Amino acid sequence: MLSRSSFCDTHPQVGVFFTRAGYSKGRTEWVIRMAAPIPEEILTEIRARVSIVEVNSPYVALRKAGRSHIGLCPFHGENTPSFSVNDEGGFFHCFGCGVGGNVFTFLTRLEGISFPEAVRRLAAKAGVAMPQAAKDPQAQERARLYRLNELAATYFQRCLWGNAGSMARRYLQDRRISQSIAERFRLGYAPSGSEGLTRFLTSQQAPLEKAAELGLIGKREGGQYYDKFRHRLMFPITDVVGRIIGFGGRLLPMAQESNTSSGRTLPKYLNSADSVLYKKGASLYGLFQAKEAIQRQGRVFLVEGYIDQLALVQYGYDETVAVLGTALGVEQLKLLHRSTSSGEVYIFFDGDEAGRKAATRAFPLCVEAGLRGRGVFLPQGYDPDTFAHKHGKAALGALIEHAEPLEDFYFRQHAPAVGASAFQRSQAAKEAVGVLRSMTDVVARGALLTQIAQRFGVSEEDLRRMATSQDLPGKQTQAPRERPVPAATQVGAETELLQLMLLDRQAAMRVAAAGIVPAFQQWSELATEIIATWQKAGALDPSTFLDRLPRTIADRVTRAYAREDSEGEEHAREQLLQDCIAKIRNAQRRSGREQLRRELQEAERRGDEAGLRLRLQRLQEQNAHKEE
Ligand SMILES: [Zn+2]
Repeated sequence: MLSRSSFCDTHPQVGVFFTRAGYSKGRTEWVIRMAAPIPEEILTEIRARVSIVEVNSPYVALRKAGRSHIGLCPFHGENTPSFSVNDEGGFFHCFGCGVGGNVFTFLTRLEGISFPEAVRRLAAKAGVAMPQAAKDPQAQERARLYRLNELAATYFQRCLWGNAGSMARRYLQDRRISQSIAERFRLGYAPSGSEGLTRFLTSQQAPLEKAAELGLIGKREGGQYYDKFRHRLMFPITDVVGRIIGFGGRLLPMAQESNTSSGRTLPKYLNSADSVLYKKGASLYGLFQAKEAIQRQGRVFLVEGYIDQLALVQYGYDETVAVLGTALGVEQLKLLHRSTSSGEVYIFFDGDEAGRKAATRAFPLCVEAGLRGRGVFLPQGYDPDTFAHKHGKAALGALIEHAEPLEDFYFRQHAPAVGASAFQRSQAAKEAVGVLRSMTDVVARGALLTQIAQRFGVSEEDLRRMATSQDLPGKQTQAPRERPVPAATQVGAETELLQLMLLDRQAAMRVAAAGIVPAFQQWSELATEIIATWQKAGALDPSTFLDRLPRTIADRVTRAYAREDSEGEEHAREQLLQDCIAKIRNAQRRSGREQLRRELQEAERRGDEAGLRLRLQRLQEQNAHKEE
């Protein structure tokens, strides 16, 4: 997810672009050339016009806290919000894992897109015109692919509501899916022939080889294209911002051609192949449509199939999403984790043995994703629709309200049998505690440890010791990486100054005037840049520097930004500024004096009297200065 783009890290706005060089003898030549970087004014204008909170909100549930917004970090699993977004400063920062940056880097990190694509997308959102040369081929390619999926969705929709779709519409009726729901989720129908979509795409002059890359159509050995989805109810799969990334297709009953026409049984469900846009197991069906309801309700429902998802939406549970033809994976749960501020997920299971097994497996996955899971168990033989249809909506509601926490389920399954030996009990407890190791929410973990102790008949104190010791199964909690900060007092003073300089132009100017920057042991380069930025622009975007600062400093800058300044604080800051400048100035003088002494000794040794006099004079001057 945190994949880096192929663009230069230090100058991310420089990329390679294809440029139309001009016409020669009636032919277009395509050459590769380095495009000019995206002009700074454009970046500044976009930053000024888009709200970073708004850009974040499809991905992270944020709430206002002081002058900032906070939420659960989308880059690491956590239960207590440490992800801070500052609209005024235009940057985000996570106190948990240290990730930070501006609105552009947020998109590049979260979506794995290039810097130019992030700029292009935000420019479109802000209504800022991009220079022609700044268009990014990777972005254009993706835009083409999204357009293709969009075309295909339009075609399938037309087929569903046209003459060819009568059987599909009857199926929807049988499953009690209303037309308005079908339209809201843009359901469609892929006809049973082998060239409907292919012909439609051809008529739209769409590139068929790209459609084949997306798995919409296939290519025969003779070079002929054919439709991949046939006689299927089509479910467009979107990303969190609503773009179609792929399709799921359910084979419809009563197919005119036999199910085994090609000599093999056709799969009941067929999903788009993995492509640039679609990664199996990394998306959830209906998340885009469910997002608002998830935030409103503070919970999310997770079901196995499209039809179950639509049924629950039909019964008013808009906060429902479906896994897509894969076993529930931690990637999908992490995706959910980003959409909910409460971290509560209700997972629907069948009431049979397989369902109970699935629930047991789901618990460690939820823990790993930082979610609190509950299991909704439908009686054997029912799905959400048939259950609500038979027993009424209220009964479905009751089933949901009584959803059992997944840990109860897990502990019950793993608890030692009555009369188990001390050794067996300890073994079972060890395994259960191992699952909890990756939990970052220490309060919740403590509560679960108490439960294990009671249920497994072991001492709680032993369990707690076990939970912090190394020899346990399960994942180790990964401590966020901290960049090493040398403990030397001068470097300490330098980092304090950096912080002050980022927050306040005046402070930066005073550091510059003190002439101490060349004496910085570690941060002279960054300090020089900060001063130059203030001098040049009169304004400074801290986000461009946050990434390069040590974690602790970035954290403090972010906190300082989020806070209103009190008078006392201003005073304290002034004191700190003076102290740090003095500390570095003293160190600077001390090393100057030592240098002089060395030179003095050298001159003495050589018998260089003129040199000796000169240096003695300087040393006296400096000592006088020190007395001031
Ligand atoms: Zn984080």
